[in-house]
Amino acid sequence: MSDKVEPQETVGREATVDGAVSSTAAGGAGGDEAAVAARVQELRDLIRYHQYRYYVLDDPELSDAEFDKLFGELQALEEAHPELRSDDSPTVRVGGLVSDRFEKTRHPTPMLSLANAFSEEDLFAWRERVKRLLSEEEERARLVYVLEPKFDGLTVVLHYEQGRFTLGATRGDGVLGENITPNLRTVRELPLHIPVDPRRGVAAPARLVVRGEAYVEKVDFEAFNRRQIAQEERTFANPRNFAAGSLRQLDSRISAGRPVKLWVYQVLVLEGGAALATQSGALAYLADLGLPVYPDVRRYADADFETLVEAVAAFGARRHDLPFEVDGVVIKVDDLAQQAQLGFTGKDPRWAIAYKFSGQEEVTRLLDIVLNVGRTGVVTPNAVLEPVQIGGVTVSKATLHNEDYIKALDIRVGDQVLVKRAGDVIPKVLRPLVELRSGDEQPWQMPATCPTCGQPLVRPEGEAATYCVNNACPAQLVRLVEHFVGRGAMDVEGFGIRQAELFVERGYIHDLADIYALPWDEIRQLEGYGDKRVENLQAGVEASKQRPLARLLTGLGIRYVGSVVAELLMAHFASLDALMAAPAEELNRIDGIGPRIAASVVDYFSLQPNRDLVRRLAEAGVRTADLDRPARPAAAAALSGKTFVITGTLPALSRDEAKALIEAHGGKVTGSVSGKTDFLVVGENAGSKLDKATRLGVATLDEAGLLALVASGPEPRTA
Ligand SMILES: [Zn+2]
Repeated sequence: MSDKVEPQETVGREATVDGAVSSTAAGGAGGDEAAVAARVQELRDLIRYHQYRYYVLDDPELSDAEFDKLFGELQALEEAHPELRSDDSPTVRVGGLVSDRFEKTRHPTPMLSLANAFSEEDLFAWRERVKRLLSEEEERARLVYVLEPKFDGLTVVLHYEQGRFTLGATRGDGVLGENITPNLRTVRELPLHIPVDPRRGVAAPARLVVRGEAYVEKVDFEAFNRRQIAQEERTFANPRNFAAGSLRQLDSRISAGRPVKLWVYQVLVLEGGAALATQSGALAYLADLGLPVYPDVRRYADADFETLVEAVAAFGARRHDLPFEVDGVVIKVDDLAQQAQLGFTGKDPRWAIAYKFSGQEEVTRLLDIVLNVGRTGVVTPNAVLEPVQIGGVTVSKATLHNEDYIKALDIRVGDQVLVKRAGDVIPKVLRPLVELRSGDEQPWQMPATCPTCGQPLVRPEGEAATYCVNNACPAQLVRLVEHFVGRGAMDVEGFGIRQAELFVERGYIHDLADIYALPWDEIRQLEGYGDKRVENLQAGVEASKQRPLARLLTGLGIRYVGSVVAELLMAHFASLDALMAAPAEELNRIDGIGPRIAASVVDYFSLQPNRDLVRRLAEAGVRTADLDRPARPAAAAALSGKTFVITGTLPALSRDEAKALIEAHGGKVTGSVSGKTDFLVVGENAGSKLDKATRLGVATLDEAGLLALVASGPEPRTA
């Protein structure tokens, strides 16, 4: 079982918890002693209940992060209010309850937990403490550390008498465990007799007690759950719970059918055996006896501590590739005499530290909900979070999607919320932790008016989205400018949301055409806008005047007209004027253009301000027509005779859109790569098709490459 619920006096831990709790106290119980006492009592009850769910029933209701949050809050409250400390608090017990269903057995030594580290600084601080405590220079000089994985399973204590496996127990509360000997006997990797191979020349010790971790491999866990689902039986939340549930069966025949495995990693008692001097030596000895020992345990001299820290990070990065779950690594002082010298602080050994890898989900406080107005006027509620580290990145904002999402989950300002960040995806709030509420959390209402322009917000019937429908809304203009100068459209180097905000706010930009009439001399006076920067920006704006027509059309931000639709449309019209003049029926006849898009385009150009905008852009020198090009679907043949295969997920286009685009330009799309394939269009998570294309020497394109090919085609473009 992991060390997650045990009391700790750790380096990094306190800082985290203190930060979280001081704000809890401020927003919650405040200085009111009675309220604090009530909260402490409430937390103790909650923690006991959830420990019971976790340890006894193997059926937790909270994620580890949520549980840690509860536990941390209680620890900090007790720290701040010593008068409330009590012997029966879960913080002074080692977590874990003993079920009455099994016979209890006393461990030969208490099963200790480890202090936790959450950052590299924590590791360096731990090392400094170790070195401070080893007073002799000579002692410090021979310091060596071992780095072991921290297995995420069920901790077990195994007893061997004269080589025979006689007793196996769970960790229980650290002092008393549960006797699960018959179940452990079913674990194939657990030798019932040691040494397993007498030819290795290691004799059985008179008495050996070891600590290990029973676990289930991820594939076995998934296969088991799939079978359970098929049979409409109960599934397990994760491999750890599966391992624990499998070994804590009253009927050992059930255990026998489960794919439980074992790692052994610590000698607790050794009588009449080898003389052990180091942890690494102990592991080698256990392996010699035939016990399952993780093979890749590494040693680092103190001088190589930085290499060790790098190895920790590297291990974290590839831990998902391991067949079993680990939630961290453990770093120990290798020398057993030094371990004894370092001793313990409270319940934690000073000679070891557990480095916990951060997951993709963390708990933090929702400080506020603010509205973000998009370029089409869609209003998105965003969470303002107390900054929290998730997977090595500080997260202070997350999306809340829309009004219904907040209502359905009853998310309130002031709540502790579970936040998920996976890869480069925008972080999202998964849910509030209702158990952690103090009562001061505020339910949230969608405001009636736009935060930027003050005009009423509108939520159309049947839609989840809320809109600011004011065309003159500056927030929308900022987003529209950002879109116009962005990569997929006019692609102005050095022009982003910040510039858009600044120029709109200062009144330089009232519509898109103003981008080509920016007061550069005035901008040169602004803070942070030196000559060089303004020159580059100006050059970028100038260069954007010659972008292909489809890019300009994309930049206008007409509803449903993204880059693909814009390509389709401008393949048929040699100028924006021609497009503006076209009735909906004509647009509708173009391959890939449906009535919805046609209506949207016609609606847009039916408004005089939009027609004026195109005229002003043209007057500013922006290319709005390909003069030499006849108004015919010239580019329709751009991909003529070429065969394409699409694989993986493209950043902007769906498969169907990409296919439509290729076909609209005369290309053919097939399902599999062969010698006849001209191009493989490759998106994210491309699979075997890419391998095959590489083998056959087929040219590959990404989405941008495809669009470029479509735009350039075989015909020379006029500038
Ligand atoms: Zn507005």
